[in-house]
Amino acid sequence: MTERLPRIALVHGPTPIVRRPVLDEIIGARIWLKRDDMTGGAEAGNKIRKLEFLLADARAKRAMTVITCGGLQSNHARATAITCAALGLRSVLFLRVPDPARARETPLELTGNVLLDQLVGAEIRFISPDEYRARDGMMEQARVELAELGEAAYVVPEGGSNGLGAMGYVEAMRETKEQIDLGLTADAHGGSVYNAGNAPRFHVVAHACGSGGTAAGVAVGAARFGVARETWAFAVCDDRTYFTKTIARIGIEARGIDPTLPPIAFIEPGSSDVVAPDGAARVIVDDSAKGPAYAIMSDEQKRFIVRIARATGLVLDPVYTGKALFGLAQAIGRGQIPRGADVLFLHTGGLPGLLAQGEDLRGPLSS
Ligand SMILES: *Cc1c(COP(=O)(O)O)cnc(C)c1O
Repeated sequence: MTERLPRIALVHGPTPIVRRPVLDEIIGARIWLKRDDMTGGAEAGNKIRKLEFLLADARAKRAMTVITCGGLQSNHARATAITCAALGLRSVLFLRVPDPARARETPLELTGNVLLDQLVGAEIRFISPDEYRARDGMMEQARVELAELGEAAYVVPEGGSNGLGAMGYVEAMRETKEQIDLGLTADAHGGSVYNAGNAPRFHVVAHACGSGGTAAGVAVGAARFGVARETWAFAVCDDRTYFTKTIARIGIEARGIDPTLPPIAFIEPGSSDVVAPDGAARVIVDDSAKGPAYAIMSDEQKRFIVRIARATGLVLDPVYTGKALFGLAQAIGRGQIPRGADVLFLHTGGLPGLLAQGEDLRGPLSS
């Protein structure tokens, strides 16, 4: 099914699955890191897996321009802008800022994702948090206005998170299953070697959740291909109720595209004996590690990413992966994921966001 969808190859895959034994001690489980922060160059991260399908659709519809949205330092907007430049498409980014009028008068900051957006020539339009709530209507209006000028445009929703975008993570789980079938064992240096005969079926696949598309794709893909018993989505904003609704909607859209995909069943954290329909994708949405606000970490979370970087050389980002791995350690600490379990953690990228937030880490860096 998914094989027949138009797709543009963007991901440098299969992305490696690596081990860092020191990380196991810190987190309390056997952590297998899937390096989706290495899906590409400056465009790397989880978003280009979705864009493989979304931009193929844009191309099939003869779009010249791609419209999308996100926070000011959106990884998704940056990945879209860079990929569009590579494909000869124009990009229009609706970026959320506290005060759009002020942002328009002030020279744009040249850091992190915003620097990359501008480098590749994206058109940036600032919108307020209120306008952001009506983002879908706003992007559709922009599409209609461009169409009237003879410029065919294609709208990619927030995070690339719809049924079609989620196919990128269904395919990532197929890719993971193929890696498992080759056999994964850790070498002495914590790298991974492919070695048949010792293939874990993961207890859990864990990852950060910001717009729900990764969660929906991972959930149905992991169930469909037998990658893990359950998947954990660590929310970095909003809450469990919001993401349960959002992930369910995207899952239904994905099944509309590929009816062989399983339905999603939402499970309470820690209650592994809850009855879910046979073959359903079991998802836990955990919102306990989202920190003070979107893109803001608690002091404990800041200390955590500094500690992980120094102990393992693993660079997490403050918006997504840092909070998700922190949340995973806490879930294991609470006994909701068994100690010593095999966990596949998706490193979904986000490095430019870290580089834009260096000042926030000054305290923990000097202690
Ligand atoms: C967007 C993003 C996520 C979350 O993925 P969604 O599909 O939006 O939930 C996780 N990590 C990073 C680095 C991201 O940029």
